[in-house]
Amino acid sequence: MSARTRPQLKHTAPVFGSGEQILIGGFGDVTEITDPTGAIRALLELLDGSRTLEQVHADLGTSFPEVTLDEIAGAVDQFDQAGFLLDADASPDGILEEHELRRWERNINFFGSFARLADNKFEQQRKLRDCRVTLLGLGGLGSHVLLDMAAMGIGHVTAVEFDRVELSNLNRQILYREGDVGEEKLGLAVERVRRFNPHIDIEAVNLRITSTEDVLGVIDGADVVISVADRPKMEIANWVNEACVARGVPLVTGGLETQRAVYFTMIPGTTGCVECWRRQVFASDDVSRELLEEKRERRIGGDNAAFCPLVTMTTGFLIGELTRLVTGIAPPVAAGRLMELRFTDYAMGESESWKRLDDCPVCGPERDTKPSATDLLAAH
Ligand SMILES: [Zn+2]
Repeated sequence: MSARTRPQLKHTAPVFGSGEQILIGGFGDVTEITDPTGAIRALLELLDGSRTLEQVHADLGTSFPEVTLDEIAGAVDQFDQAGFLLDADASPDGILEEHELRRWERNINFFGSFARLADNKFEQQRKLRDCRVTLLGLGGLGSHVLLDMAAMGIGHVTAVEFDRVELSNLNRQILYREGDVGEEKLGLAVERVRRFNPHIDIEAVNLRITSTEDVLGVIDGADVVISVADRPKMEIANWVNEACVARGVPLVTGGLETQRAVYFTMIPGTTGCVECWRRQVFASDDVSRELLEEKRERRIGGDNAAFCPLVTMTTGFLIGELTRLVTGIAPPVAAGRLMELRFTDYAMGESESWKRLDDCPVCGPERDTKPSATDLLAAH
């Protein structure tokens, strides 16, 4: 804590209770403190962001002269560890412009709820502004994801799509209109999102992905890849996985399976990759193995259901993972594990998890000398 730090109780940490009992919190998480002398309540009232620690000590001394500066520093440190405080001296100068402060005020307050005294909540918004995301697919999930990224201030997006608007897309693909049927999605989506947030930098790439090389060509310089392109279903997961591992770029991906939303995050070098997952499923889970083999041989058709509430919820999960990866306010939820949400009861949980395999041909140490996952699948 610097001498200029001005501790301020967060709005998420209101103080209530009476007498010797102090309660702090109230958003689902309340901390109880016993305060026999009244000094703690007086201290908390002084932590309004207008005083440095020395000024707090001086002002508390008028009623509680026996309390030392060290004791105050110890208490403030405990409040900080509990997440009750932010530094009112933290400034946006040199971090964000005036317009950005106003446009993303509510984001910044959200980041402030995670901040500690040593943090500057404005930095989190700048990280979003400065980051580069490649978004593969502008269909149901992709159109929501692009709009949400523009809303929360992601600065740079490479958007990849080749398809045209169909009438049946419009139960969920919110960037398109009935008059757009037959038109290319890419230009329409980019134009509408730019009108919503003219500060977002979008590179539009009209491309049907057919190989790992195609993916490599659009993820150079990306901090995160969000893949919601779903055709061809099995192959595209391999191509995106191989490219993200090769470039060391985290991948966030998900989709719908009729009544279920699923998503996961792959962090190269940390979590297992998609090929690690497949190999573990093949080794341990007969049902999933049979399902994967059936899908590969095209005996199971594509999913022709897509319901908007599951699309918007999946979008929230994907964007939440993106925020965690970019800002570090919390660790990713779905790193190396498939999370699922079932529509029937909105129960959320882990469906599967997997480890990084030392002998994985995609992400293992000898990957350069072994055939790629795509080659292996083709050989089956
Ligand atoms: Zn792997």
